[in-house]
Amino acid sequence: MVACWSERFIYGPSFMNRARLLIFNAALGPLDYRVPEGMVVVPGQVVAAPLGPRQIVGIVWEADRLPGEPVPDAKLRPLLAVLPVPPLRAELRRLLEWTADYYCAPLAAVARMVLASGGALHGPSTTTEYRLTGALPGRSTPQREQALAALEGEQATIRELSAQARVSEGVLRGLVNEGVLEPVIVDCDRPYRSADPGFAQPTLTPDQQEAADRLVEAVRAERFAPFLIDGVTGSGKTETYFEAIAEALRKRRQTLVLLPEIALTEAFLKRFEERFGVPPVVWHSSLKSTERRRAWRAIAKGPQEGGAQVVVGARSALFLPYAALGLIVVDEAHEVSFKQDEGVRYNARDVAVMRARFEGLPVVLASATPALESLQMAEAGVYEKLVLPSRFGGAQLPSIDTVDLTQEKPGSGRWLSPPLVTGIEQRLARGEQSLLFLNRRGYAPLTLCRNCGYRFQCPNCSAWLVEHRLSSRLACHHCGHETAPPATCPDCGEPDCLVACGPGVERIADEVAELFPDARLAVATSDTLGSPERAAQFIAEVEAGAIDVIVGTQLVTKGFHFPELTLVGVVDADLGLEGGDLRAAERTYQQVAQVAGRAGRGAKPGEVLIQTRHPNAPVIVALAAGDRDAFYAAETEARRHAQAPPFGRWAAIIVSSEDDAEAREAARQLGATRPDLPDVEVLGPAPAPMALLRGRHRHRLLLNARRSAELQQVIREWLGALRFPQGVRVSVDIDPYSFV
Ligand code: ADP
Ligand code: ZN
Repeated sequence: MVACWSERFIYGPSFMNRARLLIFNAALGPLDYRVPEGMVVVPGQVVAAPLGPRQIVGIVWEADRLPGEPVPDAKLRPLLAVLPVPPLRAELRRLLEWTADYYCAPLAAVARMVLASGGALHGPSTTTEYRLTGALPGRSTPQREQALAALEGEQATIRELSAQARVSEGVLRGLVNEGVLEPVIVDCDRPYRSADPGFAQPTLTPDQQEAADRLVEAVRAERFAPFLIDGVTGSGKTETYFEAIAEALRKRRQTLVLLPEIALTEAFLKRFEERFGVPPVVWHSSLKSTERRRAWRAIAKGPQEGGAQVVVGARSALFLPYAALGLIVVDEAHEVSFKQDEGVRYNARDVAVMRARFEGLPVVLASATPALESLQMAEAGVYEKLVLPSRFGGAQLPSIDTVDLTQEKPGSGRWLSPPLVTGIEQRLARGEQSLLFLNRRGYAPLTLCRNCGYRFQCPNCSAWLVEHRLSSRLACHHCGHETAPPATCPDCGEPDCLVACGPGVERIADEVAELFPDARLAVATSDTLGSPERAAQFIAEVEAGAIDVIVGTQLVTKGFHFPELTLVGVVDADLGLEGGDLRAAERTYQQVAQVAGRAGRGAKPGEVLIQTRHPNAPVIVALAAGDRDAFYAAETEARRHAQAPPFGRWAAIIVSSEDDAEAREAARQLGATRPDLPDVEVLGPAPAPMALLRGRHRHRLLLNARRSAELQQVIREWLGALRFPQGVRVSVDIDPYSFV
């Protein structure tokens, strides 16, 4: 480090005449190029280079940090151009290297997440949008009328307006020709409106203020400082970290807020706007390409130059090239959806803490049910814990009771027990709202033939097809395979013979509709609230009191604040405990505690009924008693005993191929060459629980290591010494969440 600095001091910035590029083709590895006369490049720069007849994009990297074959000068081809975006900062490059290293992933695959908008790599550009002029068309048609009504106050491209007004682009072009719509040239990178840190500052409670002060101090100090806000549901965690965001705004530093689901983003945007006067910049996978480009370039610019101030996004927002990051918040930090289970299998919560560390800034994890790993870090004094012990405004935590399904039996073919039905009935009579939680999309998890017992299975996966009545499909939740329910059994040919087994949310909604025909129902799942617009509409309807009963999956367990919601029914608390998942108890605890936290957030008290067949299971007892500490203490002991995180570490190696014999042979070979070490135990190989997934046969090895073991190094050496046939894919999952 010292040597490097002094060198630069003596010789000044050195001009690179050759450059090593990280390119996005993991099979090729890094490539060297000549820097042509007159071009100045520095590490981190995004450049265009020739590869065969093609042109590729690469990132200039420190040559000594990327292994590559030395190529003689004479054979080097020249770089083509430096792309008009700021170079990736050294802190970000180190984070990318760390992520690749830690998760045993190719650096190219990690770095690709930074350049997540192709359009952003080109220079400034404009686009043409259209808006109404106020003129009326010479000739009126129903479609033109429809467009005029729908496009009042709107401005967008013809294609977007056509989708919005549900008329053809031709109709709109006709209106342009008649001067009813006029073109407006807009800058693709027009700045976002500025947030005002003092727009609507709330008066914090003493607990909130104390926590906020610590965060504000940390933002001022510009040093690595990890926090855990451990606050009960409705305690005002959001209001509290908003004060830290306000401080970052004042200091002209950027804030990144990571949320686990897009559906939550809508509620967040609204609250943010109420607090700061404008919505934040949004980043998630369903952005239009123009929105992506605009957000990316604003993020790379930084608030000093009118760029993005606050970015709220799903986990992919973590790797964007922030110009002046000053704060990271991970809200609902316990959520498993921060773990990516495809491609680079990283945990955004953990990488967020590393990013804060590389960049030297505070990071805030907020949750009412923190992961055991996070609590342990707080215990150990690594994270500073800020506790918000009570709900805001005197709202009480809801009362929680269990309903023993072996005693209080639902009617035949029904799933709601008498106490839960009575509870809903009372809420309907009082004009209050109820929420029924069941973590199963669709109508029924299994469909079979009444005549021969044939079960509908996915052709590509070891999974049953789930009936969706709202869309009349049988669907696989793993690969997306869908088929229409057949009129006759494909096996025995019997007509009209399909029976649904078990409940999904749609079936629960049907049951409520039969019991209470006048109740206004909403099914809330990723099928029904998949887009930000639909999520916003759902929130608005519930807030306006237009919904009496919500039936939803884990999507409704967090983030929402509905003051009139006073009853939460957990339809099947045992569901999460099935399956051999290491975190099953913790996840059940978190899900039920979170959904319970939706009840009684306003002035009226909340009630929670948990339906279970195992009222004496420790996790259910802890939930009913509201005894969080007892649950965590028991869970901690169980994990310690199993050498599970945070006391030991797990990694999974999954071998897959379209050909089962080939996959099995590769797994056998891995098993045969397993490392024999005192601190790493290798289990398997064995067929994975999902033995077939998306048409690939899967075998799995599990590694359980002591904390002190060099787990990644062991895996790299082990896998690096083996060669597998083309069709075999070997993927490594460090700190896995899903054991399928
Ligand atoms: P949490 O994120 O901890 O579940 P929220 O931040 O959603 O809690 O707060 C719950 C509700 O209480 C929200 O409607 C929020 O606006 C309100 N609230 C919390 N703290 C305050 C405060 N200091 N002043 C005004 N409203 C507050
Ligand atoms: Zn499938």
